[in-house]
Amino acid sequence: MKDGASVYVAGHRGLVGSAICRALADRGIRSLVTRTSVELDLREQAAVERFFAEQRPEYVFLAAARVGGIYANDTYPADFIRDNLQIQTNVIDAAWRHGARKLCFLGSSCIYPRMAPQPIPEDSLLTGPLEKTNEWYAIAKIAGIKMCQAYSKQHGFNAISLMPTNLYGPGDNFDPLGSHVIPGLIGKFHAAKTAGDDAVTVWGTGTPRREFLYVDDLADAACHLMETYDSPEIVNVGVGEDVTIAELADLVRHVVGFEGRLEYDRSKPDGTPRKLLDVSRLKSLGWRPRVGLEDGLRRTYDWYVRHVADAAA
Ligand code: GDP
Repeated sequence: MKDGASVYVAGHRGLVGSAICRALADRGIRSLVTRTSVELDLREQAAVERFFAEQRPEYVFLAAARVGGIYANDTYPADFIRDNLQIQTNVIDAAWRHGARKLCFLGSSCIYPRMAPQPIPEDSLLTGPLEKTNEWYAIAKIAGIKMCQAYSKQHGFNAISLMPTNLYGPGDNFDPLGSHVIPGLIGKFHAAKTAGDDAVTVWGTGTPRREFLYVDDLADAACHLMETYDSPEIVNVGVGEDVTIAELADLVRHVVGFEGRLEYDRSKPDGTPRKLLDVSRLKSLGWRPRVGLEDGLRRTYDWYVRHVADAAA
């Protein structure tokens, strides 16, 4: 990807897509093509076809997806499977047919079996049953990986697939119900601090373990692999360490500066017990994360205060 190459970032307003745009700008790439979802609904095959026929981007980052936390996944399974299958099928097929040189598909660590060995190696894919709370999203993402591999095998299309662990950072969705755990907790702790509440409710038992990657690190890894990696074999993108939800909640409380209690709502699902990625393939490809969890939480909280909390005040 040299400056002057045309690069399309699908989903450029989302958590991942906006971080990829920042990373590309840092690399001096100025010829970015983007469309909002109002300008181009990626679920509409004819519209996607027209867009690719006109623009013919050389490099495509497929960061557009319907995403959400454990509650949203469990509540809107039809939307999650339909939107993701439509978006990725339309974009991957049109990119190949209109001559893109390379595509980077973004999957998720939830594609792996619920009881996969930990840390999870890439070859655990399709070796066991999925976690029920997000299997619809996971099935769509598995189909996306297989589509990239099929287009590579049949057509020689250079489509790579990255499997990021749980992501967080500026631009996340902080909606208390629909969000993932980090933005959910940041929003709850901030609201409780502002209101002077005594306690904040954390969902589940606090015992599940999760690995968290700051989204600008993921974007840097995606650019690195776009520049250096040409294989249909999937690559995990993570930090190689995890924490319990209780440890995470304590850290978020500390970063936000809330001094009250934590209460656990055991009627809410825990989801998969552990989801730590084996990142040895990524390390061997010469990439390492830079932003630690506490530092990333501080940056995310700062962003939240400036863009969400203060904006609403
Ligand atoms: P998951 O990694 O697919 O399970 O997605 P989430 O990020 O939504 O949830 C991770 C874990 O955090 C689960 O065990 C949740 O029950 C727990 N959790 C605790 N409090 C919250 C919260 O306020 N929001 C969300 N989304 N999860 C929470």
